[in-house]
Amino acid sequence: MELKGKVAVVTGASRGIGRAIARRLAREGALVCVNYRNDGEAANSAAAEIAAAGGEAFALQADVSSVAEIERFFESLDAVLTRRRGDRAFDILVNNAGISGHGTIATATEETFDRVFATNVKGPFFTTQHALPRLRDGGRIINVSSNLSRRPLPHAPAYCMTKAAINNFTESLAADLGRRGITVNTLSPGLTATDMNARLREDPRMTQLFSSLTALGRVGTVDEVAEAAVLLASPRASWVTGQYFEASGGLGLVLPGFGVN
Ligand code: NAD
Repeated sequence: MELKGKVAVVTGASRGIGRAIARRLAREGALVCVNYRNDGEAANSAAAEIAAAGGEAFALQADVSSVAEIERFFESLDAVLTRRRGDRAFDILVNNAGISGHGTIATATEETFDRVFATNVKGPFFTTQHALPRLRDGGRIINVSSNLSRRPLPHAPAYCMTKAAINNFTESLAADLGRRGITVNTLSPGLTATDMNARLREDPRMTQLFSSLTALGRVGTVDEVAEAAVLLASPRASWVTGQYFEASGGLGLVLPGFGVN
């Protein structure tokens, strides 16, 4: 139990990668705050699943694309942690909440552009700003990015841009927080089976295409991404900061036509 006594906050943790990260951090002994935007039932079931496995978790609502909601979230978190642990401090922040964002350069609208940036960039930025006075020295910040931040596809340039911004955010934050012993890293999944891309994966040609571009020759699972998150959160990664860490099975390493899969 590498994280016994630690407290973690995972945004967007009612389902998908966030839920798997919450589950895995709790299995290492952390008390986990499962943040969710609107599916309270799913978030409570994530917390109950953790409790049934012998861990500790609670659900807390906030839309992290709004600074007012982030402020309210941390006030509620302060109250819960003070009640459960005697003070409001916590140790691990996982900025996971994200949306995919639609539209090519020809079809994207101002509304979709603003929404994806508000969720994927403004959200982690201001969540981190509010977390910092509460995060213990020696803590961990993990920013969930995407393989598409480095290998953008034309189907959704705005989404790819948000994730490139996150990679950059990780580096400036790591430089700023090193003096406090806080590490900041980017965790970058490749195509991972979640609700976010269920429609894409319904088309067997798309699954086949992504698998053929991936060194390990398949789509990843949320548990595989969560395993990488635990590694970054653990004391084993104490000397790793400001890094781009990809858990993608090697998506993009295989050139089209040169695949061996
Ligand atoms: P998902 O849609 O299953 O889960 C995302 C979660 O974030 C949902 O629970 C959603 O409600 C929550 N969320 C969205 N906006 C929010 C907001 N404003 N406030 C609070 N919560 C909010 O998607 P996922 O695949 O689990 O994605 C998790 C992260 O991984 C995202 O940042 C995504 O960009 C990234 N990612 C996913 C993949 C993939 O293939 N699934 C690949 C690369 C990166």
